[in-house]
Amino acid sequence: MRVDVFTIFPEYLTGALDASLLGRARAAGVLDVRVHDPRRFATDPHRSVDDTPYGGGAGMVLRPEPLFAAVEAADPPRPLILLSPAGPRLDQARVRALADTPGFSLLCGRYEGVDERVVEHLCDEELSIGDYVLAGGEAAALVVIEAVSRLAPGVLGNESSAEHESFTTGLLEEPQYTRPAEFRGWAVPAVLRSGDHARIARWGRAQALRRTVQRRPDLLAGRTLAPDEVALLEETDD
Ligand code: SAM
Repeated sequence: MRVDVFTIFPEYLTGALDASLLGRARAAGVLDVRVHDPRRFATDPHRSVDDTPYGGGAGMVLRPEPLFAAVEAADPPRPLILLSPAGPRLDQARVRALADTPGFSLLCGRYEGVDERVVEHLCDEELSIGDYVLAGGEAAALVVIEAVSRLAPGVLGNESSAEHESFTTGLLEEPQYTRPAEFRGWAVPAVLRSGDHARIARWGRAQALRRTVQRRPDLLAGRTLAPDEVALLEETDD
């Protein structure tokens, strides 16, 4: 999978792209991330990439010329996605859809954002990572790259770990425990130590359902619980 990122702060991405899962995926050749700095395409003596907004107002706006020039020189994989609080919110379904493509590109805004002609005539779509405002698109780009690339074939060591987790199943994931069996008087639920795989699976499903009902009922909206799910919710096997 190839991901091209356009940012005026390429150094922001360096450590994160080298660490952990992303670093391993890149080293293994499964993930090819190319970072482009539009400042290289600024033509004035100060290499400026931003200017004051027409109509007045606080802050600066990223100019169209260096952004268009950087994208046209790289000929990056499409869609080219502008990270923006005004875009549709990222969710696991969008992450899955991006993971099923051979590649895509991300354009990071800064300051007050980008000239609207970049939105209308250069980018294919916008994407927000949530209802809050970051200082720039770089952190959002890392969120997208990490969420998508862990679903790409060959990135996660244990492929099944992506299938059985929050949102993929339509539910939140059940609680997880590791050793020790008792820590400061808090014991791991007995069912998880029973060795009875059918009971453990049933417990996990009940916990996932219960958590989702309590914490994220919106995930269940429009879905009627099946009779066995209602029964699971009423069980207290722990
Ligand atoms: N003036 C803009 C507004 O009110 O919507 C906010 C600009 S923000 C300070 C600068 C840049 O950070 C944006 O152009 C965008 O690339 C990125 N950004 C900020 N919040 C974001 C979010 N929730 N999701 C994705 N990108 C975001």
